[in-house]
Amino acid sequence: MTETPTPEVDEDVLEHLYEVFFGDLGLCGCGSPDEGWKLIHAILTECGKPQWTVESRNALIDSIGPPGVVHLVMSLLDDVLLEHGTSYWSSWLTDKGKWTLWAINTVGLDNLEVKLDEVGYPHDGGDCSAECYRIPAVEAP
Ligand SMILES: [Zn+2]
Repeated sequence: MTETPTPEVDEDVLEHLYEVFFGDLGLCGCGSPDEGWKLIHAILTECGKPQWTVESRNALIDSIGPPGVVHLVMSLLDDVLLEHGTSYWSSWLTDKGKWTLWAINTVGLDNLEVKLDEVGYPHDGGDCSAECYRIPAVEAP
């Protein structure tokens, strides 16, 4: 059983997911944005694991697509949601990446595109602060 978040929290979270997707990552809303969200969720889930294996990373790579696609996708997320050391495959989550994973898990992947279309950018298009991407204390591990 999952708890239903309050509508105010939901809207704020959705607005900031909108900012991540369309603002920070500069992605497009036409085509299959929901499929893009599923891929982002899969990558963040894998890279957010405290411990990972070559097998689990290889499974992720295979799910992303051919090497050129993998390179573009991982490069897109790098410095925004991911940071990497020697290679993309040892990537870990940035603070915004951790927040984004938490946020997706909070609002759910189902019809995320439709939910985002209902809210738009946060703060009526104004700037965000680091506070905006802080996981609520009650939810933090
Ligand atoms: Zn904000």
